[in-house]
Amino acid sequence: MTKSIFTGSFTQQEPIPEAAIEAAVAVMRSGRLHRYNTAQGEAGETALLEQEFATYVGAKYCLAVASGGYAMGAALRALGVGPGHKVLSNGFTLAPVPGAIAAVSATPVFVETTESLTIDLADLAAKAASSGAEVLLLSHMRGHICDMDRLMEICDAAGLTVIEDCAHTMGGAWRGVPSGRHGLVGCYSTQTYKHMNSGEGGLLVTDDAEVMAKAVVLSGSYMLYGKHLASPPVNTFEKVKYATPNVSGRMDNLRAAILRPQLADLPAQIARWNALYRRVEDGLCNTPGLRIIERPAEESFIGSSIQMRLPGIAPDHIQAIVAGCASRGVELKWFGAAEPVAFTSRYDSWRYAPEQHLPKTDRILAGLLDMRLPLTFSTGDAALIAEIIRDEVRAVQSTAA
Ligand SMILES: *Cc1c(COP(=O)(O)O)cnc(C)c1O
Repeated sequence: MTKSIFTGSFTQQEPIPEAAIEAAVAVMRSGRLHRYNTAQGEAGETALLEQEFATYVGAKYCLAVASGGYAMGAALRALGVGPGHKVLSNGFTLAPVPGAIAAVSATPVFVETTESLTIDLADLAAKAASSGAEVLLLSHMRGHICDMDRLMEICDAAGLTVIEDCAHTMGGAWRGVPSGRHGLVGCYSTQTYKHMNSGEGGLLVTDDAEVMAKAVVLSGSYMLYGKHLASPPVNTFEKVKYATPNVSGRMDNLRAAILRPQLADLPAQIARWNALYRRVEDGLCNTPGLRIIERPAEESFIGSSIQMRLPGIAPDHIQAIVAGCASRGVELKWFGAAEPVAFTSRYDSWRYAPEQHLPKTDRILAGLLDMRLPLTFSTGDAALIAEIIRDEVRAVQSTAA
């Protein structure tokens, strides 16, 4: 029997919607790409995007910036985090998260990971007490949301301010509260591989007037903050405008124009992602040795990627599965490899941070596979991909037995 092969691309996103292309062309025809370069009576695409995103997540204030990493860095700076400060964060996340902490010359303190791939709340409570950190930069890595009610109880009790990294949870929620709205600040990315695509870009939301005023000045507002539509009253800026440096990282009208139609489409896109996710999940259930992460009823997630655990598997076996799948066109990333490949770097790869040991995270990542699900895939593709993974896992398990 010939083996089925998948020929799609795991890095191919959908085209930018026509309405967004038209809006982008209109901005280019106007020549007014800088967010503060607006004609009489014109709000500008960036200010409108901020207003619409604030409404979407139910936040008082929103700022559009150059990247998700920039949003996190601005949030940390606005909270006064700097040299000598420790910041708690997930041991399992992507490189821009510890990078944002390093960018303000603070020190990351990594927290363990659960089998659900969320932050380990017991370890968080312990490190909140022992580390001296005043801020948690919480990453909803790969779209998995921890028990946010419990997390906020722990952080409130310990006096920890929470910044949420929602790069993988834009559009998600915990018990109906949008992801990014439990902590003081929520940060999102609109980089190509996230849930809206402007190439690069980020959004920051908060209800805290002073934090937002500082973030706006940080982003490079040249005292033009009065042009914002989702910013605090102008008198808030009086307190911060001379003491806050300009660390330019604004979004421009071109990218905002591309994003506004995508924001309107986001709920429909989420439904499509979740249909792909459920199809892969269905195809993989009851595969011996392989576990899909259980999704709690309280969590509204976006299945833009899927994770598989093979607890206790030997490194050469998991490598054989990755190689077998790759030979049939299915691109899996293994978070347990000795050397990081693409986005699979881990806490022990980030050697600018002091050496730390997270045995539970090590054990989980040793058996963790990850796969992207771009919307260019059909549900038929999803079924075929699951069949290939299932085959390859079985083949390796049977030679191992
Ligand atoms: C992509 C990503 C970010 C932000 O990335 P930028 O490329 O700076 O927009 C933050 N956290 C996680 C987990 C990410 O995957």
